[in-house]
Amino acid sequence: MQALKTSYNSGMNNQDLLNRSLQSVWHPCTQMKQHETFPLVPIKRGDGVWLYDAEDKKYLDAVSSWWVNLFGHNHPSIKAAIKQQLDSLEHVMLAGFTHEPVVELSEKLGKLTGLGHAFYASDGASATEIALKMSFHYWRNSGKCNKDKFISLQNSYHGETLGALGVTDVAIFKDTYAPLLMQSAQMPSPDFRLAEAGESAESYALRCADALETYVAAHHHQLSAFIIEPLVQCAAGMAMYHPVYLSRAREICTKYAVHLIADEIAVGFGRTGSMFACEQARVGADFICLSKGITGGYLPLSAVLTTDDIYQAFYQDSTVKGFLHSHSYTGNPLACSAALATLAIFESDHIVEKNRDKSAFIYKEMQVLTDLKIQHLRHRGMIFAFDVATQDAQFASKCYQLAMSQGLLLRPIGNVVYFMPPYTISENEINLMISTTLATLRGVV
Ligand SMILES: *Cc1c(COP(=O)(O)O)cnc(C)c1O
Repeated sequence: MQALKTSYNSGMNNQDLLNRSLQSVWHPCTQMKQHETFPLVPIKRGDGVWLYDAEDKKYLDAVSSWWVNLFGHNHPSIKAAIKQQLDSLEHVMLAGFTHEPVVELSEKLGKLTGLGHAFYASDGASATEIALKMSFHYWRNSGKCNKDKFISLQNSYHGETLGALGVTDVAIFKDTYAPLLMQSAQMPSPDFRLAEAGESAESYALRCADALETYVAAHHHQLSAFIIEPLVQCAAGMAMYHPVYLSRAREICTKYAVHLIADEIAVGFGRTGSMFACEQARVGADFICLSKGITGGYLPLSAVLTTDDIYQAFYQDSTVKGFLHSHSYTGNPLACSAALATLAIFESDHIVEKNRDKSAFIYKEMQVLTDLKIQHLRHRGMIFAFDVATQDAQFASKCYQLAMSQGLLLRPIGNVVYFMPPYTISENEINLMISTTLATLRGVV
């Protein structure tokens, strides 16, 4: 009982909390043994772009807490919306019941994406699962039972549940579980860094699209869907590509009757400079998967939206032809209210337009980084990245630790350093983020 009491004290012993965390909490994406030498960071509060630890040391959250936060921590209107919703309804099952926040959110997302039917879950990987299942089930309901295969891009990331991992192509997450996974084929990634010397990003993207067409033309009878991260393959190290690839992929999928699933879990909600990345190629997907920024980074929520045509294929007398996927917290009212407050900020504060200037400013200020040994300085909208020329396998963790000691949360992916800050970051904070990155990299490489 003693331990319980102290744990809720603000003067709690820091070391004690870290030890208890290591004893009881299994942290994500982590070899837990590494925490023998490299301590967890106990965070007590957040405000704007800042996270504060137990000793009130602050860290600039340049990665939006794993790409979820859009408008900073402790945002007044998102917080108020959740509190207000909490006073009327925290949750009700969505099978057989409905409520205002889920209806309003579905209508708003429908308007924004052009896809009128929203199905909800709580995390990105589940959105991937739902889109894959719906696509497959659509073909089955339409009498095309052979269309049961999926394709994705090389270096793609669609989440880590078994189905999602089946279309993900990141060896470190996937190889161990290979015997458990469904097979899928990977198409050449249009990542412009893979272009030949002298080849433009656009020509390279077109060459990759030709390879996609060759594959699809030969296998379309078996293909259910092509799942793709539009414009930026974030987990691959902010791999960016020319929008023409998306337009060609749309044409190819239409021509051969294969669904196009746009996984906008990371790139949606303004990250790439438009509300959704697909807009930049004027491409309409058959399914769009959303999560991460959907609630401004406040509560877990994901959505899959789809077309009337796909919805109608499930709308029948037979129960089993319906989409029977069940998830306890589907359409949680608190999460929906956070999402509605997030969308309201986009509208009232003209975020997509304002981010254009901010994006240009950040990219201009980043030019000082070219003093270092870096390659492929790049950005799309509010995602910024460059590759550090280093052979050091420990680069990412050294960079993370040194940046943290200087009050900056950076989480390089291999040798790729990136910024994906909350949109509310100020000019001073931008300058601090960049100068601290410069100092950090000088210390590491
Ligand atoms: C993060 C991510 C996912 C998985 O989302 P989780 O909520 O972490 O399961 C899927 N696809 C993309 C593109 C992502 O970035």
